[in-house]
Amino acid sequence: MRVGMGFDVHRLVAGRELWLCGVKLEHDKGLLGHSDADVAIHALCDALLGAAALGDIGKHFPDNDPQYRGIDSRILLRNVVKLLTIQGYTMVNCDITICAEQPRIGPHVPAMRAELARVIGCSSNNVSVKATTTERLGFTGREEGIAAYAVVLIDNK
Ligand code: MG
Repeated sequence: MRVGMGFDVHRLVAGRELWLCGVKLEHDKGLLGHSDADVAIHALCDALLGAAALGDIGKHFPDNDPQYRGIDSRILLRNVVKLLTIQGYTMVNCDITICAEQPRIGPHVPAMRAELARVIGCSSNNVSVKATTTERLGFTGREEGIAAYAVVLIDNK
């Protein structure tokens, strides 16, 4: 068994859709990025790659590569899971924490868990999504961006 962790931040700007854990949220701002900027999926991808010592998301999907422009991050996650499968790894569980002042994440957690489980190909029992504000402190508290952390366990069998 191996553990991995991931962390990511994206800037919140007007005129972008807000995608978190493969779910589109209604909000007056969205995350800026080369892809759909799903910060939670990016953290999860980095945790999975880290657990397998396979580098990071920037190595596998460079943000200056036109083929990833505007890409649905669920495709990146699916590809990361495939890379791990090739190495003989399966994900045991993952635990994601999203740091955002707005919008409220809680009501969307069941849909997020279900969608990530669908993409990964596991039970939603093995996918945890949590959210916290940062008490209006820092860039997340000022709603300048959203941060996400992910921890995963993988097993080689
Ligand atoms: Mg990112």
